[in-house]
Amino acid sequence: MRYREDKDQSAELLRLALPLMARQSAALHPISYTLWYEHVAGVNPPLSAVLEASLAGKLPLGEDDVYDLHARYVVARDMEVLDRLQRKLRDVLEEAAQTAAAALEDSGQFEAALRDTRSRLTGASNLESVHAIIAELARETSRMHSATEAVQAKLESRAREVEVLTRQLEQAKNEALLDPLTGLKNRRGFELAVKELGASPGPFKGAALVLADIDHFKQINDKHGHLLGDKILRAIGHTLQSNIKGRDIAARPGGDEFAVLLQQTPLAGARALAEQIRAAVAAGRIRRADSKEQPGSVTLSIGVAAGGSDDTLESLLARADAALYAAKRAGRNRVSVDADELAAAAATR
Ligand code: GH3
Ligand code: MG
Repeated sequence: MRYREDKDQSAELLRLALPLMARQSAALHPISYTLWYEHVAGVNPPLSAVLEASLAGKLPLGEDDVYDLHARYVVARDMEVLDRLQRKLRDVLEEAAQTAAAALEDSGQFEAALRDTRSRLTGASNLESVHAIIAELARETSRMHSATEAVQAKLESRAREVEVLTRQLEQAKNEALLDPLTGLKNRRGFELAVKELGASPGPFKGAALVLADIDHFKQINDKHGHLLGDKILRAIGHTLQSNIKGRDIAARPGGDEFAVLLQQTPLAGARALAEQIRAAVAAGRIRRADSKEQPGSVTLSIGVAAGGSDDTLESLLARADAALYAAKRAGRNRVSVDADELAAAAATR
């Protein structure tokens, strides 16, 4: 959603939010700040109810709690806004279509009236009846003229409404489906994009999923601060985007995890691309803005799984996640392939 507060009002909200946020065990990063900002601004009553209960119960919110609340009360709320705008746009378009249909019917009646007048004129026997018919024709034409003007004005106003709604819809879509930090899709955006690939012959047949997770990211955050952590997330998002093709779907589903669905890519190709991404990130250098200190090398562990026609997003994610876990166990900064795929590949050799 769009925040309406100006600089002074938001500074006051910052003053109110800070002490509340400081009482929690979660770090003071933008995800927790969003929760407390929306709470003190009074713009998210369902979220406020949960936060007030936690304050009253003296139950400090941990990292997982804040990410969970953010997903449930901020991202989900943005999805509702999106749905509402979509419904409104549909209504406006329907109304415009009805107006146009009514105008068409009206003009059909006018045409019939014209035909009738014409036959009455040819059959008119005296000047008086010709006068009467012409007067009637003039009235009918003028009625049609004002009706056409009214329809035109109505349709123009609907067109303006549609323009505004389309813009709002675009913004709501971005807020609900994109991760503001990296510009990649968020979990919902990823799920929706996958859904849009269609159900037949199964969106995952011939595709591969690459799932990456930053190694020891918590330590990096703890040592160098969340600002640098965010900078790293953005840089990795950028690396991902510059290594994939247009139809591949890249996302940051949450936390320090990234996912890429590669369409029509065999396992070997997906593994090579994952390796390329891993190497690019490990070779990258990111510095702190304040001290120019480097956090050492940032590395990724990556799991790769090939999709089949029976796969759902959950089943494919689960296999890629198992491979990712294997990469972590094997020492991190490496790419691992789903064990079932390896066995299947060995069997066909
Ligand atoms: P592992 O190698 O096993 O993955 O260790 P890890 O420390 O990366 O794993 P863990 O899942 O415990 O930590 C992920 C951390 O990512 C915790 C959380 O503070 C941090 N994080 C999640 N989202 C964000 C974000 O938006 N910005 C920053 N800076 N940190 C984030
Ligand atoms: Mg991690």
